[in-house]
Amino acid sequence: MTRSEPLFPLLALSRLRMETDGPGVTTLVAGAGCPLRCKYCINRRLLAEQKPVPVTPETLFARTRIDDLYFQATGGGLCFGGGEPLLHADFIAAFRALTGGVWKLTAETSLAVSEQAVRTAAACVDRFIVDVKTLDPAIYRAYTGGESAPVLRNLSLLLSLTGPERLIIRLPLIPGFNTESDRRASLETLKGMGFTRFDLFTYETDRGASAARSKS
Ligand code: SF4
Repeated sequence: MTRSEPLFPLLALSRLRMETDGPGVTTLVAGAGCPLRCKYCINRRLLAEQKPVPVTPETLFARTRIDDLYFQATGGGLCFGGGEPLLHADFIAAFRALTGGVWKLTAETSLAVSEQAVRTAAACVDRFIVDVKTLDPAIYRAYTGGESAPVLRNLSLLLSLTGPERLIIRLPLIPGFNTESDRRASLETLKGMGFTRFDLFTYETDRGASAARSKS
C-alpha cells in the first residue's frame, strides 16, 4: 500500500444480490460517512452497531472477486452505497483502474457532494441510482438537514456528463414530509430537465425501507 492510495471506509459487503442494484448479480459495498442527516436513515443505525474498516482498492478487489464469474455472466458487478459513496470518488476511480471495464460499477448517491466528485464518478461509474428524495427546498431541508440547490446543480452536471440512460432517479414518498402532489412536482421538473428513468416508492417509517416500488 502506498501512502497516497485512497481508502474506502467499508461497513459491510452484501453478495449475490439479484436485480436490486441494477442489472445482473451485484455485491453491495456499504461505506460509512454522509453529509446528510435523513430522518429515516438506516446507515446511522449500522454505524452504531459496527465500525467501518478502511480498505484499499486491492483489498476490496480480493474480497469481491469470488463472484467474478457471476458478474461477467450477468452484466453485474459492484454497487457502492452508503453512506455517501461519492465522498470516495477517488477510491472508486482507483478501483475501476484495477478491475478494468468488465465489472459494471453502480453508485447509489444523493449527489450532496462536490462538483469534482461528480466529475470523477461520471468518468468511472457505469450507472447511478440518484436518491434525489425531493426537489422542494423546504421539504429537503426538513428531511435531510441539507440544501437542495447544490444537488440540483449536480443533477444537471451529471446528466450532461452521462446522458439519461445511465441514471435512475429515486423519488420516495416520505411519510410526514412530502405528499404525492409534492412528488409529482419534483417528477415533472426532472422530466423537463431530461431525466427519463425513475424509481417511485414509499418509505416504511419503522425501517426507512421501501414498501412499494414502481419503476418508470
Ligand atoms: S443520504 Fe442516505 S446515508 Fe445519507 S443520511 Fe440520507 S439515508 Fe442516510
